[in-house]
Amino acid sequence: MKNVLRALIFDEQVSLTLADTTSIVKEGARLHRLTKDAAVVFGKTLSAMTFMSACLKGETGEISLSVKGDGLGGEIGVSGNRKLYMRGFIENPLATGSETAIWGENGSLTVIRDDGYARPFVGACAFPKKGGVDEAFEEYFRISEQLPTRFQTVVKTDENGAVVFAGVAVLQPLPFADEQTIEKTWNADLSALLDGAQGRGVDEAAKQAFGKSGTVWEARSAQYKCNCSREYLTRVLVSLGEAQMREIIQSDGAVRVHCHYCNTDYEFTEADADRVFANK
Ligand SMILES: [Zn+2]
Repeated sequence: MKNVLRALIFDEQVSLTLADTTSIVKEGARLHRLTKDAAVVFGKTLSAMTFMSACLKGETGEISLSVKGDGLGGEIGVSGNRKLYMRGFIENPLATGSETAIWGENGSLTVIRDDGYARPFVGACAFPKKGGVDEAFEEYFRISEQLPTRFQTVVKTDENGAVVFAGVAVLQPLPFADEQTIEKTWNADLSALLDGAQGRGVDEAAKQAFGKSGTVWEARSAQYKCNCSREYLTRVLVSLGEAQMREIIQSDGAVRVHCHYCNTDYEFTEADADRVFANK
């Protein structure tokens, strides 16, 4: 499903990104067995990073975020790439409380963006004095990337705590945008836009809100997908060396590796070591 739309609106003076991240947030909540409240905060962060991944330029581009704050959720990490494969973790998946209680009042965002053809860009900002996830990202765009940005994420849950909709809407005036357009950007109703995306999909919602003046330049699919695999970890173990691998198996019974991005456990036993090093 094409769930990420990027378009130029308001006489091509403003870039719009509208994404339905429901499937990504649902999968993140399922893999990490999140409480409803943790799913909201983690889901908003995943949605924000889906937007930032959609902005990557090079085909091999990657971006990662680390959030360290005093909230009940603990550390949050999210990574994405140009293919829009998203993954992440929240340190305390069982956290409950308000968005601010889980996200924290004091803390920082650090973003490492690698567009795939230059040295990675590292940006950081402290949490602003007030607000939750959206306010922290707005602060990040303002301070670190010097881009005026209207930004809103949403995660809606039902009475059982299941995620029913998640999304992100972003408006960024281009450098040559005139005063009137900037004012229109600031007055645009992003909540209504996200409600529209929930009801009719990103494409129809954007058309309804901005009419035919919009020029779509990208419609893509984003999903929750970790890049770990047994094959990849096997290569890591080979580089560790046979002696070391066998030593760990001897003392612990197996080499156990946990991927915190997708909450998967891998186990490598004596038989795996025999097979891996058979041809060495
Ligand atoms: Zn993984």
